[in-house]
Amino acid sequence: MRILFFLFFISSSLLMGQQPLHQKLYESFSDYKEPLITHRRFKHADIEQVLNQFREKDWLSIKAVGKSVEGRNINLVSLGNGPVQVLLWSQMHGDEPTATMALMDILHFFDGTDKTFEPLRKQLLKELSIHILPMLNPDGAERYQRRNALNVDLNRDALRLQNPETRLLKRMRDSLDAAWGFNLHDQNRYYGAGLTNENASVSFLAPAYNYEKEVNEVRGNAMRLIVVMNEMLQAYIPNKVAKYSDDFEPRAFGDNMQKWGSSTILIESGGLKNDREKQELRKLHFVMLLGAFEAIANGRYKSKSKFDYEAIPFNESNHFHDLLLRNIQLEKRGKDYTLDVAIRYAEIEYDRHSKFYLKANIKDIGDLSIVHGYEEQDMSSYKASSGKVHPKTFKSMSKLKKKKLKKLLKDGYTTFRVKEIPEERLWLNKPYALLLPKQNIENSVQIGGNPSLIFSQKGKVKKILINGQLYDIDDGTLKF
Ligand SMILES: [Zn+2]
Repeated sequence: MRILFFLFFISSSLLMGQQPLHQKLYESFSDYKEPLITHRRFKHADIEQVLNQFREKDWLSIKAVGKSVEGRNINLVSLGNGPVQVLLWSQMHGDEPTATMALMDILHFFDGTDKTFEPLRKQLLKELSIHILPMLNPDGAERYQRRNALNVDLNRDALRLQNPETRLLKRMRDSLDAAWGFNLHDQNRYYGAGLTNENASVSFLAPAYNYEKEVNEVRGNAMRLIVVMNEMLQAYIPNKVAKYSDDFEPRAFGDNMQKWGSSTILIESGGLKNDREKQELRKLHFVMLLGAFEAIANGRYKSKSKFDYEAIPFNESNHFHDLLLRNIQLEKRGKDYTLDVAIRYAEIEYDRHSKFYLKANIKDIGDLSIVHGYEEQDMSSYKASSGKVHPKTFKSMSKLKKKKLKKLLKDGYTTFRVKEIPEERLWLNKPYALLLPKQNIENSVQIGGNPSLIFSQKGKVKKILINGQLYDIDDGTLKF
């Protein structure tokens, strides 16, 4: 018994000492996080400002290697003196910024002087030459849109190369003869990781290089490295990793990079509950990219099997919604119906693409038992009906006292006309809806609609739905 206990003690302390690299990186992330970047709608000027901190450093070089359609500099950041050329490009789609944030954090990691990671830094800089094109589409980022200033999807221009941004990317790949390519994107929040009740927070692809979807060594290596990254991610977002179908897209960069001889990995950052600004996903990118560099440097990826890549579930589009209200009991023309309602929140921008508010809209109605929501509620014990519009026009909402407002909500009034209000203040996270004097709303359940609904039990209002948020009317936390 004593011997068993002793063995247990020894093995557990051995395990403690063998804390995996990804875990050490995860725990140290805050030491390297770039403080200037705090949300997704940063612009080219912000990235320039971040890079300015590094321009005098001797362990890297920052060169403006090209210009966007509107003349913004596109930078190449290079570090390391190793024989293996690794090329990463982010934000080729302007509204897909998660990896750009992590790449800035990674620069701070290499700038670090702590003892813990000194051996890793030395190893990476000795074995690899890392080349980063952060924010390949700065004009798109300025407008927080997918396409560039010519309104072209740069990821469909790998063959024709009609845009300065795509010509630059091709030129960089060719001049470096990159062994590895990281094609860094964001996908929408609504993919499932297979047909499960997990959403896809990160999705991968080792793109095909021909219609036959053959696997040569170049593509096989990309698959094996994805297996390494997936194993790391499972520790933080278990079952929330997916892979794209590998249908060949002859115009896309990933597919062509693979064809041109660079082992290419597409990484798509998806949604994660309570992480709309993707700061947790930024952290996971930091971990998995540095982990991938290590696996390339020491060749660890070679022992992985492409069958473990094949085993990653497929990315299932439209498998998720923001809010799913199940079994809503709705009456229409004197008859009762049971319906599920799926709601999504659109980001409506203002202040020159730097801010947004969320506006709910109904995406689907009916039997939605096979799809899921970031939030879900069973509404079967309530009777649903449309919220009423109050007949008066108020000068402002501050004229309505909290007590009075609660009474009106209990009487079924959800929607109030106010004299004047800026558009972005129409949809605040408040338990009442606002209308401008001339606006009208039906508050009915229909595709694309954003109705205010009331949910009652025995004739008493219990819950209300306003702008896709469900409020409990008797809950003391109701904030006006
Ligand atoms: Zn993209």
